[in-house]
Amino acid sequence: MNRAIVQSFLQTAGQQTKGLWHTACQFLWPAVCGVCLSAIEEDNGGLCRGCWQGLSETLGGDYCRGCGKGVSRYGIVQNRCGGCLEEEVIYDGFCRAGFYDGVLKQMLLGVKFRDKIELLDYLGPVFGQAFAAGGFAEKTDILVPVPLHWRRRIQRGFNQSFLLAQYLQNEGLRISEDLVRIRYTPHQWQMETDSQRRRNVMGAFAVRKGHHFEGKSVCLVDDITTSGATLRECSRVLKQAGAAAVYVAVVAVAEGTN
Ligand SMILES: [Zn+2]
Ligand SMILES: [Zn+2]
Repeated sequence: MNRAIVQSFLQTAGQQTKGLWHTACQFLWPAVCGVCLSAIEEDNGGLCRGCWQGLSETLGGDYCRGCGKGVSRYGIVQNRCGGCLEEEVIYDGFCRAGFYDGVLKQMLLGVKFRDKIELLDYLGPVFGQAFAAGGFAEKTDILVPVPLHWRRRIQRGFNQSFLLAQYLQNEGLRISEDLVRIRYTPHQWQMETDSQRRRNVMGAFAVRKGHHFEGKSVCLVDDITTSGATLRECSRVLKQAGAAAVYVAVVAVAEGTN
């Protein structure tokens, strides 16, 4: 056999071994959907077809730029829905990737309470698209993740809002952790009414000495908003610290609340 034939023989054998090895691995450790754990083809992008479909159903849609609530474009006046038209303007812009239901809800809960941080690889890009389409990405100077209290940060090991903010980061846009939570508060979803939620976060945030918010356009970043009480309180503190504009970017808005 001349050298070329030997090389081609070895190459083919190598490819076949690799193929066999791959099939064996797939048999022994099949790829599973990151959300529902059903077996999937490896080239399916990490989720099963049903979960991709379910995720797309909870994304997009028309929403109010004041509170993020899903509302038909005909129900929006001056960029705001009837529910928040009368309220004081707190944010200078609002964008969301989708609403808190179905697969999107499962994914956000997985990240937050089951440490499934790898799901951010799917959520991050869609969040980035929503931010880019929100109309204020170019005007934003600083991204500000909604902070966790240090006790909760230690318990969880990460702040999901900070991780999400990294997906919105582009050149020249930095993430600031100078907004801090100074009071440990129970989860907002443990509160029963909107006024309880407002009271729960009142005075819970402050800015660090030496912050750089003055005169800057900042964008608050969070995973979920329910009543908006946390975001409103953060926005109030940032404006008090001299922020020229406060925008909000959230992955999901829980519907049925305002
Ligand atoms: Zn699935
Ligand atoms: Zn609204």
